[in-house]
Amino acid sequence: MTVTELNIPKPIAAHGATATHCPYCALQCGMLMAKSGDEYVVNGDPAFPVNNGGLCIKGATCADTLELPDRLRSPLVRNGRGILQPAEWDAALTRIAVAFRATQTKYDRHAVGVFGGGSLTNEKAYLLGKFARVALGTSNIDYNGRFCMSSGAAAGIKAFGVDRGLPFPVQDIPHARAVLLAGSNVAETMPPLMQYFSAQRNRGGKLIVVDPRQSVTTQSADLHLAPIPGTDSAIANGILHILIRNGAVDMDYIRSRTEGFEEVKSAVATYWPERAERITGVPEKLLVEAAGLLGTAASAMILTGRGPEQQSHGVDNALAYINIALALGLVGKPNSGYGCLTGQGNGQGGREHGQKADQLPGYRRIDDPEARRHLASVWGVAESEIPGPGKSAYEMLDSLGRAGGVRALMIMGSNVMVSAPNSLHIEERIKSLDFLAVADFFRSETASLADVVLPSAAWAEEDGTMTNLEGRVILRRRAVTPPAGVRTDIEMICGLAALLGKQESFSYSSTRDIFNELRRASEKGVADYSGITYEKIAATGGVFWPCPSEEHPGTPRMFLDKFPTTTGRARFHTICHQAPAEQTSSDYPLWLTTGRVLAQYQSGTQTRRVGALNELAPEPVAEVNPAAARRYGLADGDSVLLKSRRGSARLKVKITRTIREDTVFAPFHWGEEKSANRLTNPALDPTSKMPEFKVCSVRIEKAESPRQQTDLGGVWWTEND
Ligand code: SF4
Repeated sequence: MTVTELNIPKPIAAHGATATHCPYCALQCGMLMAKSGDEYVVNGDPAFPVNNGGLCIKGATCADTLELPDRLRSPLVRNGRGILQPAEWDAALTRIAVAFRATQTKYDRHAVGVFGGGSLTNEKAYLLGKFARVALGTSNIDYNGRFCMSSGAAAGIKAFGVDRGLPFPVQDIPHARAVLLAGSNVAETMPPLMQYFSAQRNRGGKLIVVDPRQSVTTQSADLHLAPIPGTDSAIANGILHILIRNGAVDMDYIRSRTEGFEEVKSAVATYWPERAERITGVPEKLLVEAAGLLGTAASAMILTGRGPEQQSHGVDNALAYINIALALGLVGKPNSGYGCLTGQGNGQGGREHGQKADQLPGYRRIDDPEARRHLASVWGVAESEIPGPGKSAYEMLDSLGRAGGVRALMIMGSNVMVSAPNSLHIEERIKSLDFLAVADFFRSETASLADVVLPSAAWAEEDGTMTNLEGRVILRRRAVTPPAGVRTDIEMICGLAALLGKQESFSYSSTRDIFNELRRASEKGVADYSGITYEKIAATGGVFWPCPSEEHPGTPRMFLDKFPTTTGRARFHTICHQAPAEQTSSDYPLWLTTGRVLAQYQSGTQTRRVGALNELAPEPVAEVNPAAARRYGLADGDSVLLKSRRGSARLKVKITRTIREDTVFAPFHWGEEKSANRLTNPALDPTSKMPEFKVCSVRIEKAESPRQQTDLGGVWWTEND
């Protein structure tokens, strides 16, 4: 298949630049990209109404990865001596197809798994789901977005009947008189989004931030609540208790638009402020202040990020914050509401169109008979041929190489060796596979373990749609020609499907062709894209789903009249705080919480290769409070070993009062011995299957400089000699 360039007008072609979007986070900043001589020139696109011309340093340097010498430019196939060596495309794809069929013959069809990513375009996410179900017939497909947004998404579905991260545009933020932002350091993870919070405060609005550490974001806050990690639902319940006690809740809204309030009211009656302080470590006075700011504001927003969500009770945590939003009557009101801030570039679209184990396109459930019938008709297969639900991301990785588990795996756009929790265990499982294929731009830590590595075209080298954190479907345009030797992920999927005997179901003339099939597949689903066309996106700068017909303008603001639940009402959920899966102890006396830093992105496969970003963040630095540093005899810049019950990681130490005395913060962008995910706990939320990235217990040991014996007459030397 040849994926042709879009046959639609390209806007803003000043100096030959192409209007496209950043490859990294879910803000999907608009950028203008051009090539001047040998140099790529990237500028923020002032016409894109989300970033308004702003870019963070990751976006500004994103083109640096395109022509790096270690960019993969040819498939690699592991030879008989165990070495990855360049191969022809036909040989590489055939090796994968043969391995998949042999595995399915030896075990069963579900013994082949597919693992996708939150950076894949909507077209790729859709096609990967179809490839798993139609070409392979396996139930085992999931993606790394399970590690990102799944708890917030599950909470949204439970409470509102639908998950769209932000059910309103970011332009509403400045008009909220109060915003509570829980567990998100947007000033570092999505800097251009801060313009909206700055505008909100400049207009007299108040910003409350909940985060165990003082971050760049908390510096902009009017009020910072720094809880013990893992106590989010107790904070939310404590605030709701105070709001109810003060008579600040909106009883008209509760009566007319919600259900389940009385049970929640009874449950939070026991979260009096002194008790909430005891559980969370947040002074009662600050909880009262937060409730006061929210309860008296004419408009307010509650926003959650990965902090409360990446926990084994992440769905409960998000629901507890939603309870506040519903009690105050915020959801569906102007300049108000609840939203969760999606992290990955296409985290939103990637979870709507079928690359999740329990889902079909259009955000349909795979166990819904009507949804199955609809997809069977779009795909031209019998409904009985579509497999049922498969294993979620961590469950699939944990099953690798085991009886009844996945024996051959294809990973597209994900570096699970760095991004999965309990990563030493995941490494062991990956090494036990019969066969691994990885598609990526670079030889990542995961690709290095593969039997076949396929070189993917980069984001700037192909067309496709993305759905940003607001549910705005945008067009990411091809700005440059891919280097010889690489193929798009779509070409790979279609090529493999053909080798598996399914060419007819995977014949497309263009990316637009795939999008048009996705539109039909999503029609009348929860995430209905049927009325969205490439032309409409190009003409408007983005269309918000649901958009059920070509005449429909899209839906920037949801829930104005009713909720898509069976009763049309939003649902309160009774949440009782539960402790994290793992407690501190004399052996592991500190809490570890993990997160991102400004100059790196996710597993770092791309950003760790960019010189300017490495100058800013060359290695992981653990933040330790001075009191803890004294206890362990640490000085600033020391090398330490952080140890949990699952493994250890070597990091540098920064001693800072910005972190709680009982907590260590570590970023997770690095691999091997610098990997914070060697420590993290894979305990899963029972509903979302989200691992507990944000809370585990660790101890800290000063690392000795590694002493090694050389072969020079038994002379010993240290790293610093
Ligand atoms: Fe890219 Fe996100 Fe930075 Fe915008 S904020 S430039 S989308 S990484």
